[in-house]
Order: sequence, then C-alpha cells, then structure tokens
Amino acid sequence: MAVRIDGKALAAKVKARAAEGAKDLPRKPGLAVILVGDNQASRVYVTGKEKDCTECGFLSFEHKLPAETGQEELLALIDRLNRDEAVDGILVQLPLPKGLDEDQVLNAIRPDKDVDCFHPFNVGRLVIGDPVFLPCTPAGVMEMLKEYDIPVAGKHCVVLGRSNIVGKPMGALLLQQSGTVTTCHSRTPDLASFTRQADILVSAVGRVGLVTADMVKEGAVVIDVAMNRNAEGKLCGDVDYASVEPKASYITPVPGGVGPMTRAMLMENLLAAARRHQGC
Ligand code: NAP
Repeated sequence: MAVRIDGKALAAKVKARAAEGAKDLPRKPGLAVILVGDNQASRVYVTGKEKDCTECGFLSFEHKLPAETGQEELLALIDRLNRDEAVDGILVQLPLPKGLDEDQVLNAIRPDKDVDCFHPFNVGRLVIGDPVFLPCTPAGVMEMLKEYDIPVAGKHCVVLGRSNIVGKPMGALLLQQSGTVTTCHSRTPDLASFTRQADILVSAVGRVGLVTADMVKEGAVVIDVAMNRNAEGKLCGDVDYASVEPKASYITPVPGGVGPMTRAMLMENLLAAARRHQGC
C-alpha cells in the first residue's frame, strides 16, 4: 500500500513558510493578477490565488478586463505594472480570449516579475540550471519529493506530457537533480513499455484513466499532475488511483495533490521576487 502524498498539508506548510519569510520585508509582496474575459474556470483560479495572497499577508491587485480588450491595451497595462514598484509579480491568467497573442503578452512581462516562470529568459535560465524562478507546478512536485525524502538522483523518471508549462520544465528539474529522464507524448508508441521502467512516474496529460496498474512498476512513485473531470463530473487525474495505489510506494491524490502545491509555489516565487526587489 502506498504512502499518500498530502499536497494540501504540504501546501499549507509552504504558504506558512512564505508568510514567515515576508515578515521582515519593509514592503509586503504584491501580485498583480490580470484576468481577461469571463472564463468561469479562470475566475475560480484567480480567486484562489488572491485568497492565497491574503493568507500569506501579501497584497494582490486584480485587473479584470473585458473579453474584447485589444492587444495594445493589454500590453500597455503590463508595461505599467512592469514599472509599478508595489508590484513584485505579474500573472496573466491563461487562456486568453481568441485574438490575443499569448506569447507576445507573456514575453512582455519583466522577467524579474514573471512569477509563473513562462518568459523565455526564465525558461532558458531554468534549463541551464541557474533559475530565477521555478515554474510552479513542477516546483510543487519537486517539493513533494523532497518533503517525503524521495531520492531523484540515479532514478529513472518518466514524464508523460511535454507542454511548456508542465512536462518540459518537469523533465528539466528532475534532470537537474540527476534523475534519468524519459519524456513521453502523444506520438510515443507503446507508452506502457516506458512507464513500466519508471521509478518515478509523473503524468501530465489530461486524460482520465490513462495510467493503469499494469503500466506501473511495483514500488514506483506516482505523481498525478492532471486535473480532469470524469464521467460523473468529479475532479480526477490521469492515474487510475484505486488500481495503481496498491502497487506504488508513494502516490498523489487528485484532488489534494499537485494542485494545492502549484498555488503554494506561486507564493514562494512572489516572496523571492519581493526579496530581490527590496534587496533583502
Ligand atoms: P497540454 O498542454 O494539453 O499537454 C498535454 C501533453 O500530453 C502533450 O504534451 C501531449 O502530447 C501529451 N499527450 C496527449 N495524449 C497523450 C497520450 N495518449 N500519451 C502520452 N502523452 C500524451 O496540457 P498541460 O497544460 O501540460 O496540462 C496537463 C494536465 O495537467 C492537464 O490535465 C491540466 O489540467 C493539468 N495541470 C494541472 C496543474 C496543477 O496545478 N495540478 C497545473 C497545470 C496543468 P503532444 O505534445 O504530442 O500533443
């Protein structure tokens, strides 16, 4: 039976650490959150991030713009926030409405305020092993492995998914800790032949029931990043938890696993940005 990795409890610990770390700062860390349009899921995510800021004693500044906002107007707002000294981090909630150029918007954020770690400068720094920020979701996974004393060095880490937000940076962080990393994607033939070799299996695909017990090695560490809805509309990951759990040594649940950690790591990044901006 696997140890259930409690992302909720660890996230609370990380946020408490961030709150404590900000106590000696002359100015409270400030997060500007830009939400364009009225996507319901995005609204929920933004509310959650603002709640986290309040919990940590940080400031959040919400910029809610209508769906028909133009590219120039959005870039002008980012330019203003880039120069605003009360703002340590800028977060643009994705996806943006159709017609807006997401890459151009993200690239306009000053890298030292890019707390999501999406800017190419920060991605480059991450890949060469000299990160400014760590991308929140993969950093949350690494924090879980650390908390539960799960070694990465020398382990075969198999990552399912190669997105810029999760899969690629996940592989980069595992590699930096001397894991041997295999990244799988939609064009990988015979996925199970790779997953069965994994000492640490991270699934970030977005497909209910993708990872079944027969695909997992006995004693593997199984991290489920995905957030899907099953046929009953319930939140679930990629991993068939009930069948995989007895085989794994450690496993993350969905909900209550990686999700809360992603939010907590954002607070950690915001604190790091505020410290740099205040020379502390
Ligand atoms: P994404 O951009 O859609 O990427 C999905 C990846 O999965 C792609 O690289 C795709 O391959 C690959 N893939 C698709 N079908 C596959 C298959 N049958 N076998 C192996 N790989 C396959 O998604 P994302 O943004 O990375 O997010 C992935 C999941 O994580 C989603 O469920 C999302 O909701 C969740 N998520 C959770 C958090 C959190 O905080 N817990 C944060 C971010 C995302 P190709 O590149 O070849 O298309």
